[in-house]
Amino acid sequence: MTADIIDGKAVAADLRARIAASVAAFEAKTKETPGLAVVLVGDDPASQVYVRNKGKATEKAGMRSIEHRLPASASQEEVIALVRALSADHSVDGILVQLPLPAGIDANRVINEIDPAKDVDGLTELSAGRLLLGKEGLVPCTPQGCVILAKSVRPRLEGAHAVILGRSILVGKPLSLLFLAENCTVTMAHSRTKDLADVCRSADILCAAAGRPALVKGDWVKGGAIVIDVGINRIGEGAASKIVGDVDFEAAKIRAGAITPVPGGVGPMTIACLLRNTLVAAARRRGLADPEV
Ligand code: NAD
Repeated sequence: MTADIIDGKAVAADLRARIAASVAAFEAKTKETPGLAVVLVGDDPASQVYVRNKGKATEKAGMRSIEHRLPASASQEEVIALVRALSADHSVDGILVQLPLPAGIDANRVINEIDPAKDVDGLTELSAGRLLLGKEGLVPCTPQGCVILAKSVRPRLEGAHAVILGRSILVGKPLSLLFLAENCTVTMAHSRTKDLADVCRSADILCAAAGRPALVKGDWVKGGAIVIDVGINRIGEGAASKIVGDVDFEAAKIRAGAITPVPGGVGPMTIACLLRNTLVAAARRRGLADPEV
């Protein structure tokens, strides 16, 4: 028996279509168009591609994309001044500061200048605290995407044992809180975890976010488990290089019940959830109910 392949591209496309419809309804009601501001500092080629893709996806969903580029030589004060201006600008609903920032700029300080009501990456300390406390806030995009993918194959996660491999602020920690909010029993595993294979084998839902190619072997997966592979790792050189996840996909899919591929799994969900957060932020800022997307 082989696992169902969870098609992240299809789930994300479906979510984006629902967001676009909801944006149209929002416009009809408010006569305004939600706007996402992206701040790019410096000329890191990968960041430029990410920002371009986010801009295209934002416009495709019917929202306004506002790009602000600052040179790599920009000072921390200049970046903070821009983020403060965007936070104060009524026409901006979401603010995203593309990371990493150039050396010498304290990303933490810059991020925490974002108005939490516009924190569509969910990275401010206030957003993180609200997630921890189970209060309404904006939730980081990649973890949000992982939960949507898990629920696409198992709508009720209550009682499932979710094992999260990785404890980063960006992925592992918020993801563990989201599964907890779904009433899962959550285990967080990391680089110091003992008997990692056994811990993984106890998972009904196994999420790998370690950034280590093929860390999760086929026999680490419990029969029938849902495997969500967050890892994005480039292996090989030049034309022969390719992107792989943290899971040995071919071996794991023989045991798993459902599994996300890399690429085409969690990746496409991240941008879709960013659009979702922008729309949600736009609605909440105007005192409207959360759109059902
Ligand atoms: P990170 O480096 O900040 O954190 C990695 C975590 O994995 C750490 O907590 C560490 O303890 C743990 N870890 C490392 N080696 C391990 C090992 N051998 N055994 C067990 N645990 C181990 O990385 P991150 O930002 O959380 O990202 C993780 C992966 O997810 C990366 O490959 C990254 O590219 C990818 N990612 C993908 C998306 C997406 O949109 N799909 C978004 C963000 C990150």
